[in-house]
Order: sequence, then structure tokens, then C-alpha cells
Amino acid sequence: MKKVITVLKGDGIGPEIVDEAIKVLGRIAEKYSHEFVYKYVDIGGCAIDKYGVPITDEGMEQCKNCDSVLLGAVGGPKWDNVDPSVRPEKALLAVRHELGLFANLRPTKLFPQLADASPLKQSIIGNGIDLLIVRELTGGIYFGKRNTAEENGEAFASDEMKYYAHEIERIGRVAFESAKKRRGKVSSVDKANVLDSSRLWRKIMHKLGEEYKDVEYEDVLVDNTAMQLIKNPSRFDVVVTENMFGDILSDEASMLTGSIGMMPSASLSEGTLGMYEPIHGSAPDIAGTDMANPLGTILSAAMMLRYSFDMANEADDIENAVNAVLDEGYRTADIMRDGMKKVGCREMGTLVTEKI
Ligand code: NAD
Repeated sequence: MKKVITVLKGDGIGPEIVDEAIKVLGRIAEKYSHEFVYKYVDIGGCAIDKYGVPITDEGMEQCKNCDSVLLGAVGGPKWDNVDPSVRPEKALLAVRHELGLFANLRPTKLFPQLADASPLKQSIIGNGIDLLIVRELTGGIYFGKRNTAEENGEAFASDEMKYYAHEIERIGRVAFESAKKRRGKVSSVDKANVLDSSRLWRKIMHKLGEEYKDVEYEDVLVDNTAMQLIKNPSRFDVVVTENMFGDILSDEASMLTGSIGMMPSASLSEGTLGMYEPIHGSAPDIAGTDMANPLGTILSAAMMLRYSFDMANEADDIENAVNAVLDEGYRTADIMRDGMKKVGCREMGTLVTEKI
């Protein structure tokens, strides 16, 4: 099978981790006689430096006209003070919007080999942690009207959080369908005791709950969810929530698993086109040192094979290889413990590749 992949390496550790994912995909292509064609597009700070914008129109067209997009990360201190209209993150929001990537899937799984890297006590993670956060990605406060102005001589700023019923329903369906393929439970997270947008969210989720009778359903307030993730993470299977709550909760959840460097994500549209990226940022503090953990990006590539290319066996191969390498005790610095074998970003990518 031939697939065209747009590659957005981005800034900081982005190029290092994406190179390792491509190394692994090369092995998959060889093993299964697929052809992966890579089209490279600058995004984020490196694009600002070259073109004055975080992604060019041609770059955006390339993202729209391919089979899937693989992203490293964007941003860094160098571009923290650029004009807000061309900030590196602007490009990410634009790609999500232009490609209609409304569903962000963030699996949070504690690899048993890394149990001692989790900050939680063994008595709490005893039953394991394996949850899927389904975050709405193209609505809510990140896309609402912004305003910075003055009133009676005092500065003020506001950001609008707006959701249409159809946006809530389609993300809800992704959550219920995912739950059917997992342990069959949806926890819908909102702030319905305060926000109108959450009350509409809850009403629509309840309607879906009636429709998906085989799926267990619960409402949980976002503040309670933040607490429950630490107190009793195994109570969750699929967690569905709006854009900003999902952004915050998924970073919290990722830490339960030991390192943000392990966590993949998929952003899906209504069709098969998706964007795949690790959930962490560009980690400028370790960029260029070969210390980055490439596993979140490699596992994102596995999600790409599974969700966009319908290549389940190939995806299983990558996930099994990651497991095997961890079983053998290889660790990057972020997950290193006494008695384990420390490796760099490149060696970790090579080890996974060789296991396939
Ligand atoms: P970060 O995720 O880049 O880093 C947080 C901490 O985790 C750092 O100590 C870093 O070294 C470590 N870390 C992250 N990924 C790692 C990996 N793969 N292996 C080992 N350690 C890893 O978050 P930050 O420091 O808040 O942000 C840095 C930059 O990234 C900022 O400019 C921010 O805007 C940007 N950012 C981009 C994205 C994205 O591109 N999707 C997401 C979040 C942040």
C-alpha cells in the first residue's frame, strides 16, 4: 500500500523524535511491502525564522492533501515574544481547524515495566492505569472570540467559550464508540454547576447515553476529575471532555504513567485523515542532546497506522516492539531507574526498529 505522509518536525526535540519514528516506519514498510512517501513541511518557530509565518499556505495545502500528518512539536523561548498573530502554536491551531481535526485521542497507559516511574503509590496503581481521554479539539475557548481592551481606564481581556450542539454530539459519538471497543464506560467531564456551555454538553451526552445502552455512563465535574485521576485512576475507561479541560487533564494523566515522553496522541477528522503527535512540547531544555524519549512519537506513528491506514497488524508490531525493548530494561533518561540500561533517543529508535 502506498501512503503519503506530511511530516512536520517542528522545533526543539521535534526533529530528533520524528526521525526515530520515521526509522521505525521504514522497517514497517520493508516488512509489509508498503511505500511511505514523506513530504516535509516547516512548522512553528523554524517556519517563522524562514518565512515570517508559522506555516505557509503551501505547507497548509500539503497537510490537507495527504493520507496523514506526523508532527513533532513546536515552539521555544526564542519565539515566546513574537507577535501573537504569528506565534508557533498558531500554526497548530490552524492545521487542526483546516483539517477539521475535532477529536483528540490520548491513550494513557501505564506500562507495567514503568510502574516505579509513576509518582503514585503502588497501592493506587495496583489495578493498572489504562484510560483514553477523548478531547474536543476544534471548539470551545481556544477558538472563541478574544478581546483585549479598556473599560473606564482599566485594561481587561476576555475569551469566549462557545459550543454548538453538533460539535458536542460528534465528539460524544467518538467517545461512546471507543468505549464499546474497550471496557464499556464513558465518563463525561464538564462544569455544569457553573457554565451554560457545560449544561448543553451534559444534555447532549445524556441523549447519547440513552442511545448507547450497552455503555455505562457517568457525569463528573472537572475539578472532581482532577482529584479522581490521582486518587483512583482505574475507575476511568473513556473520559470525554471539551477542549481546555481536556488539555489540562491529559497532561495530568500523562504524569501518572511516569513520563510525558511516553504518551502518543491522534487527532481525527470525520474522514481518515488524521494528525499524530506526542502530547509533550518541544522540550527546549534537552533539544540537541540526544536525551529525548522518542517512544511517544513512535507510538503516535503506530496510532497513525491503526486509525488512518487501517494497518492493525503493523500498529501491533510497533507497540509490541516498544514493550519488548522496555522489558529488556532499556530506558531513556526521563524513565531511567537503577539497574536499567540507559540509552539515547537515537539508540532507543534503533532498538525498537530492530525488534520489528
Ligand atoms: P514540554 O512538554 O516541552 O517539556 C516539559 C518537560 O518535559 C521538560 O522538562 C522536558 O524536557 C520534558 N520532556 C518533554 N518531552 C520529553 C521527551 N520526549 N523526552 C524526555 N523529556 C521530555 O513543555 P514546556 O517546557 O512547557 O514547553 C516547551 C515548548 O513547547 C513551549 O514553547 C510550548 O509552547 C511548546 N509546546 C508545544 C506543544 C506542541 O507542539 N504540541 C505542546 C506543548 C508545549
